[in-house]
Amino acid sequence: MAESAEDQIDPSVPPSGSGCLDCLEAGGWWLHLRRCAKCGVVGCCDNSPSQHATRHARSSGHTVIRSFEPGEDWFWDYVSEQFFEGPGLAAPQHHPLDQPTPGPAGRVPPDWQSHLH
Ligand SMILES: [Zn+2]
Ligand SMILES: [Zn+2]
Repeated sequence: MAESAEDQIDPSVPPSGSGCLDCLEAGGWWLHLRRCAKCGVVGCCDNSPSQHATRHARSSGHTVIRSFEPGEDWFWDYVSEQFFEGPGLAAPQHHPLDQPTPGPAGRVPPDWQSHLH
């Protein structure tokens, strides 16, 4: 392994916000949220229409994400394609509990399930 997953984690960086950064800018919506463990960018999962978390990993070279869903603390390494347990990250640990899934409120189409990957 060229670079350890730990080098891809910066526990001091807070998440970029409460929702997918790119979806919020583009007016999109997401199913579940992930957080870049290196720079804190919040992106949407691979089931979401735009798959921004994986796109961020590919474009930035940041290869570790952590779930940004309440009650989930797993990390995923795109290099080894393995889940693993990592350190605690800067708060908040997940999106606000009153934020709907899928989200954000008001942007999810009625036929959202047909848009999932
Ligand atoms: Zn997104
Ligand atoms: Zn990043």
